[in-house]
Amino acid sequence: MKILITGGAGYIGSHVAKQLLETTDYQITILDNLSTGSIKTIKTLQTIKTFDFIELDLKEFDKVKEILEKNRFDVIIHFAAFSIVSESMQNPFKYYFNNTVNTTNLIKCAVKADVKKFIFSSTAAVYGDVQQNSNIREDFPTNPINPYGMSKLMSEKILQDTTKISKNFKYIIFRYFNVAGADMFYKNDLLIPRIGERHEPETHLIPLVVKTALKKREVLNIYGDDFDTFDGSCIRDYIHVEDLANAHIEAITYLDKNESDIFNLGYAKGYSVKEIVNSIKNITNCDFKTQIIERRGGDPAFLVSDNGKILDKMKWKPKFNNLELICKSAYEWEKNI
Ligand code: UDP
Repeated sequence: MKILITGGAGYIGSHVAKQLLETTDYQITILDNLSTGSIKTIKTLQTIKTFDFIELDLKEFDKVKEILEKNRFDVIIHFAAFSIVSESMQNPFKYYFNNTVNTTNLIKCAVKADVKKFIFSSTAAVYGDVQQNSNIREDFPTNPINPYGMSKLMSEKILQDTTKISKNFKYIIFRYFNVAGADMFYKNDLLIPRIGERHEPETHLIPLVVKTALKKREVLNIYGDDFDTFDGSCIRDYIHVEDLANAHIEAITYLDKNESDIFNLGYAKGYSVKEIVNSIKNITNCDFKTQIIERRGGDPAFLVSDNGKILDKMKWKPKFNNLELICKSAYEWEKNI
C-alpha cells in the first residue's frame, strides 16, 4: 500500500509517519514545504526506516498533480496546514489560501489520480462557541468563530461534495481537540521522546507551560480568567499525540468496510488552563510566575469532545489517556531541544 503524508515533517504528521514506519510495511512518502515542519524531524524518522521525502509547497499545483499521477497513492493523509487560531484572526487569507484553496487542489488531483482513501485533519474549532458547556458530538452545529476553523470546515464540505461525484473516493475527517505530548520512546526505562512539538513561535499552552517550568521563559500568560467556566479560565480536551496518531492508522483499514465519516478525536474530559499550569508545576516540581492578561481573540470558553462515536465504531483504543503522561512527555521532549 502506498501512502502520501502531507505535512509529515510537522508535529502530528510526524507521529503518524513514525507509527506507520514502525508498525506497518506500507510504502510511505512525506511531502512537506518545511515552513513549519522540521528537516531534523525528517532525519530522525529516516533512522527508523527509509521513505521518500518531497520538499514541496502544495500551492505548486502542477507539481502536485504530476506527483500524484506518477505515484498512484492508495491513501492520502493530509496534515499540511496552518493551525494557529490567533494568527488566523490577523491574517485570514494565509489560512484560506493554504488550508482551503491548496486542499481543494489536492483533493481534485487525488480524485484524478484515483486515490481511494483521504484522511483529513480537521479541528474542534469548526464547532465554534458551544454555549451549553456540554461535550460536543459530531452532529452538533458547526459555527466557527475564527478563520482557522472556517478554513477547515470549508475543506470538510469539499470532501463531502467530492464523494457525491466520485464513487471510488472515501474520506475520514478527524476533528482534533487539543493535541499535546510527545513520542513515548523509552530507553533504559527513561522516557526520551525522539520527536515532539516544535513551533516557532510557540503559541500552544502545554509547550509554553513546560518551557516556563524549564526557565526558557519567565512568565506564563493566562489569556483571561473571566470566562463562564468553574475557575474562569478556558477549558480544553487534551489528547496525547500518540493516541491521536493511532486513530489515523485505524482509519485506513476502517474505510475498507465502512463509508466516509467524521469523528471527534479527544478524551471527552476537560481541563482548565489553571489546572494545566498546576499539574505541570506538580509533575516537574518547578514553580514559576503566571499572570492573567486579557482574552485572546477567537478563544471559545469550552471545547470538550464527546468521543462515543469513534469508540463505538472504530477499533481505536486510547493508551495514554492520562494528563500526567501528556505533560511529562511534553516536558521530557522540551528538556532535550
Ligand atoms: N492559553 C493561555 N496561555 C498561553 C497559551 C494558551 O492561557 O500562553 C490558553 C488559550 O487561551 C486557550 C488554551 O490555553 O484557552 C489552549 O490554547 P492553545 O493555543 O494551546 O490551543 P487552542 O485551543 O487555541 O487550539
